[in-house]
Amino acid sequence: MIPYGRQSVDEDDIKAVVEVLRSDWLTTGPEGERFENMVAECCGTKYAVAVSSGTAALHCAMFAAGIGPGDEVIVPPMTFAATSNAVLYQGGLPVFTDVDANTLLIDPVEVSSKITTRTKAIIAVDYAGQPCDYDALRSIADKHGLLLIADACHSLGGSYKERPVGSLADVSVFSFHPVKPITTGEGGMIATDDKGFADRMRRFRSHGITTDARQRAKEGRWFYEMVDLGFNYRITDIQCALGLSQLKKLSFFVRRRNEIARLYTAALEDISEVDPIKIKENICHGYHLYVIRVNPHKSRRTRDEVFSSLLDMGVGVNVHYIPIHLHPYYKKKYGYREGLCPIAERAFREIISLPIYPGLKNKDIIHIINCLKKSLIENN
Ligand SMILES: *Cc1c(COP(=O)(O)O)cnc(C)c1O
Repeated sequence: MIPYGRQSVDEDDIKAVVEVLRSDWLTTGPEGERFENMVAECCGTKYAVAVSSGTAALHCAMFAAGIGPGDEVIVPPMTFAATSNAVLYQGGLPVFTDVDANTLLIDPVEVSSKITTRTKAIIAVDYAGQPCDYDALRSIADKHGLLLIADACHSLGGSYKERPVGSLADVSVFSFHPVKPITTGEGGMIATDDKGFADRMRRFRSHGITTDARQRAKEGRWFYEMVDLGFNYRITDIQCALGLSQLKKLSFFVRRRNEIARLYTAALEDISEVDPIKIKENICHGYHLYVIRVNPHKSRRTRDEVFSSLLDMGVGVNVHYIPIHLHPYYKKKYGYREGLCPIAERAFREIISLPIYPGLKNKDIIHIINCLKKSLIENN
């Protein structure tokens, strides 16, 4: 079975991890600080805060943004549930806002129509790795005094109008799960230029306590105070060493993902039943996912039929995503129904994610394309 995504871990990565195991600090040590500095440099931001997952990173951002009961946060439905769950953790209300039919990225026109006096923030999701329309989102956020947050879990290493992902919003959130652009096993990071924001997130990741153990050891002090109700969202130095080693290969990974995407897109030109997702100009795509749409007017076979044929042939396809408002939890608790975000709902019925990861071979791509062609034939 060819998986839809997988990590690329080499001997350098393994060596980096083993070295930490022989050192003094297994957690909240020098590797963590180095990893944060290198991500900040890569994003072109002043600060980066490393945490235990992308979900923890989103929660930290919601806390630092001061989201609480009665506050609304605009989110697209075409994303992983963690994006809007983070709003719920803080007692806020996610306001699902439909996506653009071509790119499946949050539609700035829709965003404007959802703003109320209770709106506090917009979370833009760089779906599949394509940066959102940040100029338009920035001007909406500025006009209404909203915080602009990027869920950039798919797009690390990408850019928008020559500006790196991580520097495009007030706060940008990353995940280092094994299928993501780089991995630490589990892990996450928040990049920002705002010192107050970074300080609040740093405290929140460690129980809301003002100093960490290494700081206290350095200064020979025992004193600390808890000033916020935080969590233990710390990431180990073992993981950060892996992240540092991976980050050195990020541009190679992104280049290879783009090569794979080019091969898929070229092959799809001859397959009228399916279309790739549209790509805007002036961006560098992270290609966390390569998403195709099975055109219901041109294909004799449904998305589900194409999907199961591909699985049967050993091609590990996936569907990203069930629109969040259609999950039973959200339906039951908030009464959401089909029709809230029709463009995302329609896309959901047509999309399939094809395998894409740096280690995918050209011969695998040819094989996948042949399987896709076969899967579109009736009674194959
Ligand atoms: C992976 C992902 C997350 C959550 O990250 P974890 O590290 O798995 O907690 C959040 N948002 C998006 C868009 C993701 O793809």
